[in-house]
Amino acid sequence: MPNPNDHLHRFLLERAGVSGVLVQLEDAWQEVAGRSDYPPAVSALLGQALAATAALTGTIKLSGNLSLHLRSKGDLSLLFTECNDAGRLRGLAQWRGDTADAAIDLAGQPEPLLAITIDNAATGQRQQGLVPVEHGTLAQLLEGYFERSEQLPSHIRLGCANGRAAALILQPLARSGGIGQTDPDGWNRACHLAATLSETELLQLPPEQVLLRLFHEEDVRLTGERGLFFGCQCSRERVAAVLRNLGRSESEAALQPDGRIEVTCEFCNTRYHFDRVDLEQVLRDLPETPGSATTH
Ligand SMILES: [Zn+2]
Repeated sequence: MPNPNDHLHRFLLERAGVSGVLVQLEDAWQEVAGRSDYPPAVSALLGQALAATAALTGTIKLSGNLSLHLRSKGDLSLLFTECNDAGRLRGLAQWRGDTADAAIDLAGQPEPLLAITIDNAATGQRQQGLVPVEHGTLAQLLEGYFERSEQLPSHIRLGCANGRAAALILQPLARSGGIGQTDPDGWNRACHLAATLSETELLQLPPEQVLLRLFHEEDVRLTGERGLFFGCQCSRERVAAVLRNLGRSESEAALQPDGRIEVTCEFCNTRYHFDRVDLEQVLRDLPETPGSATTH
């Protein structure tokens, strides 16, 4: 269920010709953060990624899921955050060793791979874009992604501290210039104003006050609001599909001495059990040779 402390606001700076999305998370973020004993640097990055993912859903017409997926061969092996059009969020990170650093340098991770994926629930279509991980913070990497893939400048601020996470995204309105009377300096002005917001203000001020604090001299207008909440999309059927993908020999090898397979969802800690009879049903139509092992 949506919580009053977790929300996405869309707004418009009409004169400047800029649209924006502000996301603030508290309960949903704490649900995600509390699922594992994350080192502070991993936790901070996960919170930023979760808020960014939610905010990205506010910049497009989404019917389905949007996810951010990072893999590397370094300390941060996996980071995955997802938000759907109803505002349901989930996320996790996996790391190796002690990441005692104050902040994780994404570009410093060996072989980093960062992707944004949009799954359209209605058509079943998947759209994936790779974000070059060259230098900078997650916010800067995402700005670079928009610049390259959509030829769209954007100004992105992300924060995570003291049990809260937040994101602010600004983008210029309709590139065709057909909307409103856009001011040639409007985009630069909006970016400069947004840059004056401190991380504490981004995280702590109520959304109306964030907008008032930044844009009191612009004609800022709220255009939409949505609650956000933690929720998992795992199901017995999805776990069964993973077992089927693993193939017969690998899934049979996962049977424990008590004759069951136990699969724990890493997003929500729900446990699923399959005994030999269940497994036989899952694998019934599978040829003898194991399929390709794709887990997700
Ligand atoms: Zn789950």
